[in-house]
This record gives sequence, structure tokens and C-alpha cells, in this order.
Amino acid sequence: MMSYLSHLECPKCGKTYDAGKAQTVCECGSPLLARYDLEVVAKKVKRDDLKGRVSSLWRYRELLPVNDDRNVISLGEGMTPMLASPKLGQAVGLPKLYIKDEGLNPTGTFKARGAAVGVSKARELGIHAVAMPTAGNAGGAWSAYAAKAGLAMYVVMPVDAPDLAKKECVAAGAGTYLVKGLISDAGKIVGQAAKTQGWFDASTLKEPYRIEGKKTMGLEIAEQFEWELPDAILYPTGGGVGIIGIYKALQEMEAIGWIKKGAKWPKLISVQADGCSPIVRAYREGKNVSEFHTGAQTLAAGIRVPKALGDFLVLEAVRETGGVAISVNDDEIMKALLLVARTEGMLICPEGAAAVAALPHLVKQGVLNAGERVVVLNTGSGLKYPDLIAIDLPVLEKEAQLQVATAGERTGGAE
Ligand SMILES: *Cc1c(COP(=O)(O)O)cnc(C)c1O
Ligand SMILES: [Zn+2]
Repeated sequence: MMSYLSHLECPKCGKTYDAGKAQTVCECGSPLLARYDLEVVAKKVKRDDLKGRVSSLWRYRELLPVNDDRNVISLGEGMTPMLASPKLGQAVGLPKLYIKDEGLNPTGTFKARGAAVGVSKARELGIHAVAMPTAGNAGGAWSAYAAKAGLAMYVVMPVDAPDLAKKECVAAGAGTYLVKGLISDAGKIVGQAAKTQGWFDASTLKEPYRIEGKKTMGLEIAEQFEWELPDAILYPTGGGVGIIGIYKALQEMEAIGWIKKGAKWPKLISVQADGCSPIVRAYREGKNVSEFHTGAQTLAAGIRVPKALGDFLVLEAVRETGGVAISVNDDEIMKALLLVARTEGMLICPEGAAAVAALPHLVKQGVLNAGERVVVLNTGSGLKYPDLIAIDLPVLEKEAQLQVATAGERTGGAE
């Protein structure tokens, strides 16, 4: 199988770049998008061809940028389950609710999608050393795939990033550095070091192929719903790569005829935390770009991104699909996390929980209604945040009687 990648294109000024060489951002500063020869794909690849293909994101091989199969580095990423979540749905007023569980990806988050494709393409382009700033999970994922690919990896992250993410990087042999600051501060250090050390700067959206990995979420959602698109998709937004990717997938699927021209697209809904909500603010103020959110703070570390390079693309995806941008507070995030565990049996990550927490607000505001099929992307596993759930449980003495919970009552010290 082959890739129909043709070139890279700037979505801001239209300038094109050779995809056969390592590229970062456009001269104008905008991220670059991978473009494919979609007319040929439309002729050669039909939806039915996907049947029987590998159960990973590499099933969409023609729409991914890696030319030579030998460069594909895979740990089994993608094709995560789309789980009907009726009990949670009842609780929030959306009986046709689904959660797509990205926590089942390698390294426990959907960052594996971007890393698999980004690292594979880096290898194909002959890159030997990669550096990136990360809020945590991207570092873990890229370190894992870089280890498998035999690339040197350098990661810089906030000193208060989740512990497990730091350990993942170290375990996979990545040069791992902490900064007393935010991902934006880490980004400046990486930018400098990349220049002096000759490392490839794979910062979010400075590297064009992560989006390609993440767009496969959009392809999978369409395929899992048998090409009848859902009404809305909620995405916890940090750098915004996932939502930009899903929007790109919708465009490509329409261009190649996998979804009908004129079919209604899902409303793409960007969810952030009150403590770090630059996109929401720009959305509310009718702006096309966001402003740096000073003092960013939320327990949902993966969406603590005070300013995203691709903010204008996120805002476009939201507005063009009739979606909205909305934020929730950390208290709501924790409550939603526990509600999902107790109704659907899934220990989701706080970022995914932010999207769940937004649901009742969106119903109340009339953005979503009970008849609609709504998909929440749970971007990672709660197991990556072992310290998040505060517990204070009784230790039984030998003679102590175990207090049996009465029917319907649940025990647990987390509330
Ligand atoms: C990185 C991350 C996000 C945000 O993803 P972006 O593509 O940067 O918007 C959401 N959830 C988790 C768990 C993450 O690690
Ligand atoms: Zn440009």
C-alpha cells in the first residue's frame, strides 16, 4: 500500500512546500498541512476496501504521509472502541451518548496517534534526533515511539507535569528536562536547543505530521458509525491538534466520496478548563486568534496550553461546523470523572472529564438536544493520573466488622 501525500501547504498564505524534505512552519509562521492527491484516492480507494484491514490507524494508509511501509513504527495505535454510554447519557440528558476511549492507545493517550505518524515520518525523512516541549503525555508517547524507531529524543516539560509522564520519558531513554514554568516556557527552551544542537523541533504544530495521526480519529468515528456521521463531537482542547485533525478528516472524506457531499457534519465542540481557556475567550469575543492566557492552571494538565499555534484553525473548525467553545471548572471535571467511572465503568482522564462536564451546560444552552448522537473523545486513561483521586479508606482491624453497603449505596472515599 502507498501514500498519496503530494505536498505541504500553508492554510494561511497558501505557500506550498516539498514534503520530501523535513519542514517545520511556513515562512509566515503558520503551521503547515499535509495535502494528498485526493482525486486519485477517490478513484482508487473505496470505503469497502477498509474491511479486513489492520485494526489500527494504519488502515487509512493512503491518507497517511509515510511512503515506505518499512518506516512505519507501530505499537498498535488507533481503532479505539466507540462505547455507547447510555447511563451517563441519561444522567446528562443525552441518551444517545458515546465515548470514544482513546485511553486504550499505547502509552494510554491519543498522543500515540500523533507520535506514531510523526516518528514514522521523521524516520523516513532521515531525522536522527527529535526534541519537544510537552505538558506530559506527548512526551511519553514520542519517547516510546522514538525508542522503537531508534531516534534520539529530548523532552522538556513543566516541573509540575504529571509524575507518570516524566517517568515514561525517562524509562524510554529520552533526555528529560523539567522547567519551572509552563509548556510555553518549555517551548522556548526547545526552540533554542534545537538550533544549537541540530535537533528537529517537533513542537505541537511546528511538525506537520502529528495532525495526520490525530485526524484518524475523524476517519474512525465515521467508519464506526458506518459513515452516518454523529451530530456532535466534543474535544478537550489544548494545542488543538485533534480538533484540527478531525476537521481535516471531514474535508478529506468528503473530497474522496467516503461521506456524501452536503451531508451534515458534526458540530465540533472545543472544551477547555476555566483556568486555561484562551480558545473559549477568542470564540466568545468573535476573534480569529487567541491571546496568551496568563496564570494558566487546571488539574487537566493535557489542556493547560495558554496559547496554541493553531488557534485560528481550531476556531475555524468550531465555527464552520456550527460548534461552540466552552469551559468548565476543575470541580466539575472531578465530579464528571467520578460520574463516568460509576455509570460506565471507565476511569477516564481529567481532560476527557472536562468534555463530559460540558455536556449538561450544552444541553441547557440548547447547543445539544436529547435526540442527537453525541461523541465525547476521552483522550486518555485515568490510570495516567494516579494521584488525582484523593482517597482516604478505612483499614480494617482484625476484629472489625466490614460494614456492608446497603443495596444501591456505593462506598468510596473520593467525594
Ligand atoms: C494533549 C492532550 C489533550 C489536548 O490535545 P491537543 O491536541 O493538544 O488539543 C487532551 N487530552 C489529553 C489527555 C492530552 O494528553
Ligand atoms: Zn504561510
